[in-house]
Amino acid sequence: AKQGGRNGFRFYAPEMNARAMERLALEGSLRGALERGEFELHYQPKVSLADGMVFGAEALLRWRDPQAGLVSPANFIPLAEETGLIVPIGEWVIDSACRQLAAWRAADLSGVSVAVNVSPRQFQQSDLLALLQNALRRWNVPAHQLHVEVTESAMMEDPERAIAVLASLRDAGIQIALDDFGTGYSSLNYFKRFPLDCIKIDQSFVAGIPTSREDAEIALMIISLAHSLGRQVVAEGVETEEQLSFLRQHGCDAIQGYLFSRPVMAADFPEYLARRLKP
Ligand code: C2E
Ligand code: CA
Ligand code: CA
Ligand code: CA
Repeated sequence: AKQGGRNGFRFYAPEMNARAMERLALEGSLRGALERGEFELHYQPKVSLADGMVFGAEALLRWRDPQAGLVSPANFIPLAEETGLIVPIGEWVIDSACRQLAAWRAADLSGVSVAVNVSPRQFQQSDLLALLQNALRRWNVPAHQLHVEVTESAMMEDPERAIAVLASLRDAGIQIALDDFGTGYSSLNYFKRFPLDCIKIDQSFVAGIPTSREDAEIALMIISLAHSLGRQVVAEGVETEEQLSFLRQHGCDAIQGYLFSRPVMAADFPEYLARRLKP
């Protein structure tokens, strides 16, 4: 890039490689998508294994691009994270989840909880507690209906601060799940101090059940570790009856996965509250 012109920086195409151009274009599109309201949340049911009932949902971000159609978060979250755009996008996610909770409450579906994903950058940069509490207040939703999912990597940047932030969320009544457990850099020493309500078994381990002995053993270890520390366990990415019966047999508390339902549009979610996982 060369400095010049009234706009500060002027870019000369030959100096930029194709990848950089592509990234710049995607960044611009993401900014536009946020302004034009092209993001939406889809909701994947979380099912309790105690009674087979849906007790909540994970909110998962999608971009409805007028040209490309529905774009998966895997295609834009990493860049949003890198550029910092995840901060305003994440604010939109929290606000939308609370708006949806308010709508479901108004429709007499007041028992359901919604979990939002919080990215590492968002966790480090923003005043998460204020953000969540403002959204809860704006939509008049009780804190216990909003959950957050954080990853180990978000926590391990600055574990002491992470512990303080999570403790403040929990004091405010917001439940916390540790996402993708076992896939990042974990330290059991910190892990025992993280104020968590729930641990999610990553789908990469669930995928190996029951054929991979190692994956099955890891899932068992996570269940027993979580329970010994008084945390709930949710397995994600459950696709088969075999996985379900293994998890059920070994005391996993809840599941999420295509076996029960893919993430669905908000309008379709309420009908899942009436469905039950067969015993
Ligand atoms: P994640 O938080 O680990 O979410 C679980 C992913 O697994 C979701 O992918 C979900 O659709 C998918 N999934 C659920 N059940 C199954 C199954 O049975 N089989 C398989 N193969 N996949 C299943 P999705 O929606 O594409 O999201 C991918 C990732 O993008 C999420 O992983 C999360 O890290 C990130 N993400 C999604 N929404 C948000 C958001 O609002 N904010 C942030 N910061 N990240 C988000
Ligand atoms: Ca998640
Ligand atoms: Ca996950
Ligand atoms: Ca994952």
